[in-house]
Amino acid sequence: MKMNKWVYIFSKESTDGDANMKDLLGGKGANLAEMSKLGLPVPPGFTITTEVCNEYYKNNEELPKDLEKEVGKAIKKIEELVQNKFGSNDNPLLVSVRSGARSSMPGMLDTVLNLGLNDATVAGLAKKSGDERFAYDSYRRFIQMYSDVVLDIEHHHFEDILEGYKADNSYILDTDMNGGDWKAIVDLYKNQVRNQTGNDFPQDVHEQLWGSISAVFRSWQNNRAVTYRRLNDIPDHWGTAVNVQAMVFGNLDNNSATGVAFTRNPSNGDKKFYGEFLVNAQGEDVVAGIRTPQNITEEARRGANTDSVSLEKLMPKIFQDLIDLANKLEKHYMDMQDIEFTIQQGKLWILQTRSGKRTAYASIKIAVDMEGEGLISNETAVNRIDPNSLDQLLHPTIDQQAKIEIIAQGLPASPGAASGKIVFNADDAEKAANDGEKVILTRIETSPEDIHGMHAAQGILTTRGGMTSHAAVVARGMGRPCISGAGSLRIDYENETLNIDNKVFNAGDIITIDGTTGNIISGEVKMKEPDLSGDFQKIMKWADEIRTLKIRANAETKVDATVAKNFGAEGIGLCRTEHMFFDEGRINSVREMILAKDESSRRLALSKLLPMQKEDFIELFTVMGSLPVTIRLLDPPLHEFLPHLENDYEEVAISLGTTLGQLKVRVDELTESNPMLGHRGCRLAITYPEIPEMQAMAIFEACVEMKKQYNQIICPEIMVPLITSKSELQIVKDVIDKAATKVEQSYDIKLDYTVGTMIELPRAALRSSDIAEVADFFSYGTNDLTQTTFGISRDDSSRFLHEYIEKNILEKDPFVSIDIEGVGELIEISSKRGREVNNKIKLGICGEHGGDPTSINFCAKHGLDYVSCSPYRVPIARLSAAQAEINKK
Ligand code: PEP
Ligand code: MG
Repeated sequence: MKMNKWVYIFSKESTDGDANMKDLLGGKGANLAEMSKLGLPVPPGFTITTEVCNEYYKNNEELPKDLEKEVGKAIKKIEELVQNKFGSNDNPLLVSVRSGARSSMPGMLDTVLNLGLNDATVAGLAKKSGDERFAYDSYRRFIQMYSDVVLDIEHHHFEDILEGYKADNSYILDTDMNGGDWKAIVDLYKNQVRNQTGNDFPQDVHEQLWGSISAVFRSWQNNRAVTYRRLNDIPDHWGTAVNVQAMVFGNLDNNSATGVAFTRNPSNGDKKFYGEFLVNAQGEDVVAGIRTPQNITEEARRGANTDSVSLEKLMPKIFQDLIDLANKLEKHYMDMQDIEFTIQQGKLWILQTRSGKRTAYASIKIAVDMEGEGLISNETAVNRIDPNSLDQLLHPTIDQQAKIEIIAQGLPASPGAASGKIVFNADDAEKAANDGEKVILTRIETSPEDIHGMHAAQGILTTRGGMTSHAAVVARGMGRPCISGAGSLRIDYENETLNIDNKVFNAGDIITIDGTTGNIISGEVKMKEPDLSGDFQKIMKWADEIRTLKIRANAETKVDATVAKNFGAEGIGLCRTEHMFFDEGRINSVREMILAKDESSRRLALSKLLPMQKEDFIELFTVMGSLPVTIRLLDPPLHEFLPHLENDYEEVAISLGTTLGQLKVRVDELTESNPMLGHRGCRLAITYPEIPEMQAMAIFEACVEMKKQYNQIICPEIMVPLITSKSELQIVKDVIDKAATKVEQSYDIKLDYTVGTMIELPRAALRSSDIAEVADFFSYGTNDLTQTTFGISRDDSSRFLHEYIEKNILEKDPFVSIDIEGVGELIEISSKRGREVNNKIKLGICGEHGGDPTSINFCAKHGLDYVSCSPYRVPIARLSAAQAEINKK
């Protein structure tokens, strides 16, 4: 039987692993091995693999039997190297036990330091170091950490004891405590453990070691780690490794210290060494924030305007060693490093190195700089940037220094942050905006009628609806920050109040929404404006050179199309014509059209709409020039257009020449119990062919106008929504072709156009062979395809989907990132069948997934020609498409 190797040693003398073994040794373990191999000053130790973590959970939280022998051998090896003995009363070996997953999960997992101390070994340590204060300070830290991590006794019990003791003795700082004081604290801490657990603090060092190893594995499933993994797409089965390492002490004396350094500035990317340290301290003191850390460099100290001496001044030789080592590490890893170090009595030790986390701005600057320095290729530079992080650069964001009070949370539906006065309806939003006021449009949900208010508002907040709800989709398209589905909020339209956690906000009160995080904040908050520097352009240029997938945008207005084009869109993949119908001055004609009793009155209403639609298309074609534009025929459920208010009814009744009573009867006739699956999409075109006829005429007449006025040849792509069969498409295509012939004859001109369809229903995906005989292109409408494949309403999903994610039924929200197994398979089947019949067919995607990096990767892998996303996601899509290409290799 093959024996597993569970334990990997790292030391200057012999090392089993290296940097490429992150999957098995975790990031920390792999890098400790690599640094040991490079001959860097790393205290020796060993890594217990991530496989052990998986075994542990597989076997009901039991460690593998043969692990004990391997760990025993590894401990012996460390004892030999550092010439100490684990559990010895005169010369005790102390170790740290730290977690380390494949990708770093800062602060999520557990750590125990100074392990190996007990009542006897602490005396030995005091004697050997000649420093009782140090020995008992280390022991009390160990008791506190072990109790927290292994025995589940919360920190604050120990902090209360220490604070009480200091107050009784009129001490202010920890450094006021002497050896005797720490000894007294150790006794108090041990009493606390006995009181809480009914047992004495464990004195057997082996029991301590195994207790800690198991606890670190257990921490893989603690709530914060599980949440962090979900937010960062880290799979459960990766597991964590455990690193056991000989201790070095930064708390031995004033010639000792501990700190963290970055090889470049992680917030602005400047090529300047940056970091903080504390004299006479252990790692957790830096994190705990009890003492203010000092700057490493003189320059940073001057910048911070403090007298607190820098490491550069205090320990110039060590400072130089640290800089040399940091440079070596950055060159070796070819990336900005985040380094943890300890100085023990004038000797520098490196405890960890990893790729440093950084802001989006810094990540671009560092990638471009490193390419310039010849450290990395432009492909690597492009691959290093998290596409989603670009959102931080494209919208105003909350100033990180700002103090904020989060009062509630919703779904992060459209990124960026905005502050403004609460308004409860679109008209008030528009009015306030015209008066120069900033407002947040706050609604239970939005409908197409609210467009003007959404446009006028700085941000949109809804209490209902998911990530593809009307509010979310439209806000993303406009680049407005939006939080949707904030279910804990109560809106009372009548009294114009918003109730958050029993606190009442009135119209006019100021709130801030952060659409990137979903946080709702009380009052106004300081913002940072977006800054698209030269480096950003450079990365985008490299991305464009690498990618083969085309990027289009979903846009229907001149403003949105212009934004999309400026962000690099190569066409419009979806113009939702219904969005053009809600402008004031049109909605009434639209209502006339819908409520018309017969064809002739419907044609009358349509004839009023035709010139308006034509103007819309001319505007769009003018912005896009020679770039392709896909125009979709009318799609939405009709109820979205119906009058809501009594005033609207009266107005419509007058224009239709009917009575209020008759109108209400007609509205009742049109009301559907399930409009999303009702009379919408091509079904409208089938039952009222005069609607697609008017739209096709408007498109073709706009093409004629473009030719006559600007000599610009336009080849529109006309798209039919929500089909399930070839015959539906054929019927609507015939209407379009007839309109084309009519326009060609009237203007004596030859038109060039294509006709294609959305594939957004499972039946359409399955019948793609037939449909492809009639279609020039397929555009996957993954919003509806997700809705209909799962049978989950896109507008109501937010009420329960989060539970599906928490309970691991779904890994991600399928309305945000494509469900590869289900919806993805339908796309695969459809594209294969479509191409078999029609090898020239153009394939794209235009659901919200078109702006999601994972979904874009899926589209690139399956050979789609383009993705179409909201304008503000175009740069994200360009970068993702390039990464998909790089990762194909
Ligand atoms: C879709 O269903 O994916 C789509 C793009 O259409 P809409 O969101 O307008 O229904
Ligand atoms: Mg759709």
